[in-house]
Amino acid sequence: MRSVVIDGPGSIRVDTRPDPVLPGADGAVVAVTATAICGSDLHFYEGDYPIADPVPLGHEAIGTVVETGPEVASVRVGDRVMVSSVAGCGHCGGCATRDPIRCHSGPLIFGSGALGGAQSELLAVPGADFQLARIPDGLSDEEALLLTDNLATGWAAALRADIPVGGTVAVIGLGAVGLCAARSALFLGAATVLGIDPVAQRRDRVVAMGITPAEPSATTAVMELTGGRGVDAVIDAVGSDVTMSDALTAVRAGGTVSVVGVHDLQPFPFPALPALVRSITLRMTTAPVQQTWPQLIPLLQSGRLSVDGIFTTEMPLDAAADAYRAVAARSGDVVKVLLTP
Ligand SMILES: [Zn+2]
Ligand SMILES: [Zn+2]
Repeated sequence: MRSVVIDGPGSIRVDTRPDPVLPGADGAVVAVTATAICGSDLHFYEGDYPIADPVPLGHEAIGTVVETGPEVASVRVGDRVMVSSVAGCGHCGGCATRDPIRCHSGPLIFGSGALGGAQSELLAVPGADFQLARIPDGLSDEEALLLTDNLATGWAAALRADIPVGGTVAVIGLGAVGLCAARSALFLGAATVLGIDPVAQRRDRVVAMGITPAEPSATTAVMELTGGRGVDAVIDAVGSDVTMSDALTAVRAGGTVSVVGVHDLQPFPFPALPALVRSITLRMTTAPVQQTWPQLIPLLQSGRLSVDGIFTTEMPLDAAADAYRAVAARSGDVVKVLLTP
């Protein structure tokens, strides 16, 4: 099968690898019909994480089940399914909460070495009853792909931001996760959502979504909006030293900073004293993907929550090197890329 691999910083190629085998009696193999590049994939691409051997990349996939183990009960060969980007064993007390991060065996993420990469023709999925869900009628490929990671992440970011109804929220970073978080914040009752991004075209795009665009820094934009008090909540969808520091400054006293952007491996200089004297709540979240599905699927089906306009680009899997280059440029034209194997 063909699989997108990274050899080192900036070095993406499509490799031919052996087809995956069934990963145990509770596993399945999925023929990937659509996959996507996530902002967190760029940490490998930009050299933030060490790469010893070529790593098959990608953790967002939908596809068709082509093989199941004897213990799999919830999906059958031929089913159109989505794959949670974060995997748990599916059998322990932690997984019973439907949050794979709480798996007692430790969660695994596709495309980071331990499991196969979703940017492949075939994907082996352990614990298929936990990791897979049939895609219900009426959901588009784009919506299902966003449910595997970015929408689940943005939704969890907003849920965990303690947004008061009628409150003010700043979202730092208007990539796919930031857009999902901003729309979730509006859905959950925020009256004003500031969308902070340095790229003018990304700011222009959000006006139609009901989001108020602003240039960085978040602190400057927020203080202008709130007369120097700060916003009720800041969602950081970037996760750099600069944006996390900015978030901790822009939030009001007693407010919440909700971080879902993925940091690099360097220590973060945390402003402990200002955070303490201002009673800031800081939440760091990896999406409880499977837990969000019973909430988000009906909201998408009913049209109450929209993710239109988040995917900007579709390319064949074989063009992965070009696709990564385009995503890494963080332009206004290319926000989210769908790859078809
Ligand atoms: Zn991701
Ligand atoms: Zn588990």
